[in-house]
Amino acid sequence: MARLVQKFGGTSVGSPERIREVADWVARCRRRGDEVVLVVSAMGKETDDLLRLASEVSGTRPGREMDMLITAGERKAIALVCMALADAGVVAESYTGSQAGFITDTNHTDAKILEVRAERIREALEAGRVPVVAGAQGVSTDRDVTFLGRGGSDTTAVALAKALDADACELYTDVSGVFTTDPRVVDSARKLPVISFDELLEMTATGCPKPAMRSVEYARRHGVRLHVRSAFTWEQGTWVEEDPDMEHAVVAAITHDLSEAKITVSGVPDHPGVAARLFRSLADRSVNVDMIVQNASEQGQTDISFTVPHAELASSMEVVAGLREELGAAAVSSDADVARVSVIGAGMKSNPGTAASMFETLAANGINIDMISTSAIRISCVVAESEAERAVQVLHDAFELDRSPY
Ligand code: ASP
Ligand code: MG
Repeated sequence: MARLVQKFGGTSVGSPERIREVADWVARCRRRGDEVVLVVSAMGKETDDLLRLASEVSGTRPGREMDMLITAGERKAIALVCMALADAGVVAESYTGSQAGFITDTNHTDAKILEVRAERIREALEAGRVPVVAGAQGVSTDRDVTFLGRGGSDTTAVALAKALDADACELYTDVSGVFTTDPRVVDSARKLPVISFDELLEMTATGCPKPAMRSVEYARRHGVRLHVRSAFTWEQGTWVEEDPDMEHAVVAAITHDLSEAKITVSGVPDHPGVAARLFRSLADRSVNVDMIVQNASEQGQTDISFTVPHAELASSMEVVAGLREELGAAAVSSDADVARVSVIGAGMKSNPGTAASMFETLAANGINIDMISTSAIRISCVVAESEAERAVQVLHDAFELDRSPY
């Protein structure tokens, strides 16, 4: 018998049929003897619909009211799931984030969990009931309803698994696990039986959309075992662990991210304080700068290039153009049609040559590298956006990720 937190994403509960299938699955887990707590997202695209509705009604959209609105999606879903569970013969009880004891800060629309007071949920479990908790929500220290942000249900599930000392946190979704790369880009992408927290974190930071990065960080910090798996086929998915006794592939996965844009400040004087001034000004505008490359200087001048999310390109360019004279830069330019392709694997720490293989593969396929950055277990290249998918395909092939290393 295991104690499991099971989180169901929007598509998993996207229709009445889906909700009944989830209820049947939970009933089966209960019969097997497991203790189960559910965390449920809003049905289908409901969160998007509510956001759109708000923008149609108002240009102001106060955070407090946005959170009251958005959290209604999950509230609807938990009630419906409990009704389906009743039909399946399972005694269940729905809880809003507040009822479930999620205390958050007051940062509306993107609140952080401060504490989980899970007594009520624990009591329900011990009384043999199945608690069904609304994902991505809580109550703030000011006693207002808060939303944890997009993808916040994953974080709710992980935090609850930690608070209840669960054996595992199962994240049920519409894909069957974590893949060697996006299966929509590479047919032969392979589901990984297991991956380390470090690798999955690098993946979520470089374009892998699920699970939400914050939830993976939380799980790593608190030692919560994750199992990413399908709510459609119910097959075994991907386990995420601290130090898995891993398949010894040097490279575990390839990711890509089309949402990056590049800014270049050229001909800046090479003296102390230039980069500091530039990136402080961007930070003050809350720009999320990613890769930064500074060239070796020539005749006392250098170029600085960096990437930012598309959504922050306009405000970044404003900042940079405003600083051009003060910095003494010759020119400022930007390119939105870039993408980042990354090769990730814990094995590269102890295996030299991964970077060389990556660059050779791109070169052999005529793909030009614009910028390069690395971490201990990741190598990223910025390439033209139009080349990104082909880059992923040739790298997936070159590192033989379609084949199990066993
Ligand atoms: N429903 C919300 C979203 O789509 C929160 C979540 O389910 O994670 O972002
Ligand atoms: Mg782009």
